[in-house]
Amino acid sequence: MANRKLEDLVEHMRAERNTLDNLAREPDQVARADLMAAARLLERSLFHAERAISSPGIMEPIQAEEGEMLDIEIEEDLLEANRKLAEVNRSIFADHGVLAIDVMGAIGSGKTSLIAAMVEGLKGRARVGMFGGDTATSIDADRVREKGALTVQINTGKECHLDANLVRRALEKIDLDDIDILFIENVGNLICPSEFDLGCSKRVVVVSVTEGESMVVKHPMMFLDADVMAINKVDMAEAFGTDVGKLESDLASISPDAVAIRTSVRSGEGLENLLDALSLL
Ligand code: MG
Repeated sequence: MANRKLEDLVEHMRAERNTLDNLAREPDQVARADLMAAARLLERSLFHAERAISSPGIMEPIQAEEGEMLDIEIEEDLLEANRKLAEVNRSIFADHGVLAIDVMGAIGSGKTSLIAAMVEGLKGRARVGMFGGDTATSIDADRVREKGALTVQINTGKECHLDANLVRRALEKIDLDDIDILFIENVGNLICPSEFDLGCSKRVVVVSVTEGESMVVKHPMMFLDADVMAINKVDMAEAFGTDVGKLESDLASISPDAVAIRTSVRSGEGLENLLDALSLL
């Protein structure tokens, strides 16, 4: 009986979240940031309510997923299917004590270099894995493997983002008991990846000063759910005339709980701060 009530409640919450999402996506919506923030808050409540209905063990969800994988191809609501798979991934990470981090950012922002530098910085402190998402090639995963991480390449073909299903498939290729931290490098893009929860516990968006100082206001969706923004290649800010303070204040207004860290792989600036902000130390 109690479960029936909870299921009704979850159904209701899902509908409310979708309404908020749809309102936020209306053209010329002036309250977009607030509506998205409200939807994300509801999303978090929904996550816990859904978990309350069934607390899946490690073996069961993997089998349930097999069915859901097929559903994904026929399901109208891809995002809904993705959300379910992301929850499964999240519980798998939790069961193995793995801290998974979704690393997003535009092409050339320095995601791979930052991950490689963090793997180097974590040497002797934690065992690290990395999934490299790209449309083609294994260049990025190979670079990070050279630094001592266990890596799996995910090629998305024409897709501009990773999804929870691809991550789940990559999870079959490694033993999560061999790692403590997993970096998932998303496909270089500042639009699609924000829509697809992968089941990670942290999200970091890498922005390079070479992209200019308006990246946050131009891509608010990307930063709403971010825990950390790495302002990368900061040693070149002056040469590019980029106002780093503007990126920081824009982030503070869009996502007050997120942390901005200035980084440079070349000079090593901010790398320890970044590890600390991601709770990796
Ligand atoms: Mg890369």
